[in-house]
Amino acid sequence: MSESEIAVPEGLRRNVFLSTVDAIYNWSRKSSVWPVMFGLACCAIEMIVSASSRFDMSRFGMEIMRPSPRQADLMIVAGTVTKKMAPQVVRIYNQMAEPRYVIAMGACATSGGPFKDGYNVVSGIDKLVPVDVYVPGCPPTPEALLYGFMKLHEKISRQSVKTVPWYQREVEREVPVPVLGPDLIDVRRLPEIRAKLQERKENADAEAPTPESA
Ligand code: SF4
Repeated sequence: MSESEIAVPEGLRRNVFLSTVDAIYNWSRKSSVWPVMFGLACCAIEMIVSASSRFDMSRFGMEIMRPSPRQADLMIVAGTVTKKMAPQVVRIYNQMAEPRYVIAMGACATSGGPFKDGYNVVSGIDKLVPVDVYVPGCPPTPEALLYGFMKLHEKISRQSVKTVPWYQREVEREVPVPVLGPDLIDVRRLPEIRAKLQERKENADAEAPTPESA
C-alpha cells in the first residue's frame, strides 16, 4: 500500500466518500436559496407564476419565499424601482442575512426599462446594491427567471469559502441607505456631489457682474 492510500476498515467501505469543503458548502447553499417575498411592479407577477406547479421552483429548494429578509438569502428585484421605493429596497437588502444574492429581474430593475428617463425612476438597481444575475425582458418569462436561478447556482458553485466576501473583515457589505429629498441621493456619492456644487458656485461667482462692470 502506498503512503497516499488510506486504509478504510471493511465495515465502513460502503459508507465513505471524499469531497472538498467548498463542494459541500456550495451544494448546500445553492440547493436552498430562499427568496425574500416582495415585488415592485408587473415583473412580480411573472415571479409569482414561477412558483406555481407549472414552473415549479420548488425543484431547486427555493419555494420558501420569506416575508422576513432576515431569513432570506436572495432578493429578486422584480419591477420598476422608483426613487421613493429605493431606500426601502436597500434597507431590505441590508437586513438580509449573509450570504445574500441579488437578481435584477426585467428591464426596469436592470436599467430603468421603458421608464429610464422618468424623473422618478432609478435606472437600474445595480446603482445601489450589487447584482449577481440580470434577467432581461419586459417582462421576462418564468422560464427566463428559472434560467437566472440556474445561472445563480452556477455562480454559487464557483465560490470558495476562502475568498467569499462575507468572511473578509475588510470588505464592507452594508450599503448606505439613499436619502430621498427633492431627488434620490446616494450618500456614497456625497463628496462628488459637493465638489460639483462647489464648481457650479465658483462658475456662477465668476460670471456674476462686478460693481465696476454694472
Ligand atoms: S420590465 Fe416591463 S414588465 Fe417588468 S416591471 Fe418593467 S415595465 Fe413592467
